[in-house]
Amino acid sequence: KIVVVGSTNVDKVLNVPKYALPGETLAIDSYQQAHGGGKGANQAITAARSGAVTTFITKLGNDEDGQAMVAGFARDQINVDHLVTTDQAQTGQAYITVYQSGQNSIYVYGGANMELTAADVNAQADVIAQADRVIAQLEIPLPAILAAFRIAKQHGVQTILNPAPARELPAELLRLTDVITPNETEAQTLTGIEVTDEVSMLDNAMAFFSLGITMVIITVGAKGAFYATPQAHGFIPAFKVKAIDTTAAGDTFIGALATQLDLDNHNIEDAMLYANRASSLTVQTAGAQNSIPTRDQIVAANQK
Ligand code: ADP
Repeated sequence: KIVVVGSTNVDKVLNVPKYALPGETLAIDSYQQAHGGGKGANQAITAARSGAVTTFITKLGNDEDGQAMVAGFARDQINVDHLVTTDQAQTGQAYITVYQSGQNSIYVYGGANMELTAADVNAQADVIAQADRVIAQLEIPLPAILAAFRIAKQHGVQTILNPAPARELPAELLRLTDVITPNETEAQTLTGIEVTDEVSMLDNAMAFFSLGITMVIITVGAKGAFYATPQAHGFIPAFKVKAIDTTAAGDTFIGALATQLDLDNHNIEDAMLYANRASSLTVQTAGAQNSIPTRDQIVAANQK
């Protein structure tokens, strides 16, 4: 049983030929209205598609975007009974411009996500207390994450923090974290140690262990991912695939890993391989939530 506490965004994607300079008007090639996105939602969807019993705690506006997102969560069999809505802000939105080169620029309107309070989370204490793991990211206010992790720790629920987007964090939040899953930039932001090779990844892990964290996963894009516990560590290379759009790669990795840790009797290497395969499928399709694979697709890709 997994509870995800995090953000929901509606992604509005513009396919553009080049950067528009201030004051310039440009005709664009195409746009895609309203794909589902947001780190929290992406991770919840990954967990659900991999077969975890998944509850998502997130805050939405009372608007059409919010309703469309809820309908999508329900189609993915996510428990939507613990969602919260607000009249104070609209559902979060990300405006993504994708250039012909494949690079992108993203503007995020946090909206309702930024209204998620500790009180909102405390009102969902029962479902958190009954979970096996709770996962959070940094696209919602810190007091909401702290509230979730405090409840989790009181009830022996494992806490997984995906410290994205990169920012410094209060000591209490790191103390409440069991598993941390940064990418290279996020790891360096928190430890001050640059990620270059496996030795520097282990140095990062040691820095996190000294804070009481017991499992460290560092994802390094097309190179793969590193794991460390106080007992063991290793590097799992990424699968060699033709990446089209890496949006949600990290989210897929984390949602899949958490699910496998749940179902796989905590065998971390097997869980890493599963997560690696899952995210290698996500990068081969454009978009965020539409590119996240199901367990059947991941298993089938492993048998090829
Ligand atoms: P984030 O998007 O959070 O920075 P990463 O870019 O580190 O996350 O990617 C997360 C995981 O997705 C990687 O550890 C890897 O398993 C997989 N991945 C990312 N990019 C590729 C790629 N080009 N080819 C294959 N797998 C990839």
